[in-house]
Amino acid sequence: MPHFDLFFKTEALRQRLEPHLRLIPPLFEFTVRTGTPEVRYFDQNDPMWKGFPFPVPGGTVYVFDDGIPARALGGGMDMRASVRVLAGDSDEAAILRIWHEVLHAIGQPADDMTRRAAEWQTVSERILWGLWQSLARPVDVPFWHSRFYAWLTERAGAGAGGK
Ligand SMILES: [Zn+2]
Repeated sequence: MPHFDLFFKTEALRQRLEPHLRLIPPLFEFTVRTGTPEVRYFDQNDPMWKGFPFPVPGGTVYVFDDGIPARALGGGMDMRASVRVLAGDSDEAAILRIWHEVLHAIGQPADDMTRRAAEWQTVSERILWGLWQSLARPVDVPFWHSRFYAWLTERAGAGAGGK
């Protein structure tokens, strides 16, 4: 079971989001803290990552809400993840972003929802997915993300590609 120290930068962010962490399946174990872990920065000339803090210690997730120039909203790899919460984010969107990045952190292909649709969808989901697309509704929404992430998490728990 992957365990992470999960830092919320501020007490306000923690009080808002900690109660919703249970949306993330218990495969992920979190020790919740308030504050900022030791962080480093990626290439400061890259507009995607400019000013984006990323945890140094393994087994660490950092959730923050600073206004920084980076275009990225999150990053995750090698048992580390960093997630930015925007002013307009719903609690659900923020939690799904954390779930997405911790999946990356344990080596799961969290970006491959559409490409792997045939693998994770049930028959009824496949029908709904087809209908959804025929109506030109975007599939990058919590409804589909949460289903895909649940499948990835279960798969990680079964030992396929996770650790
Ligand atoms: Zn991603």
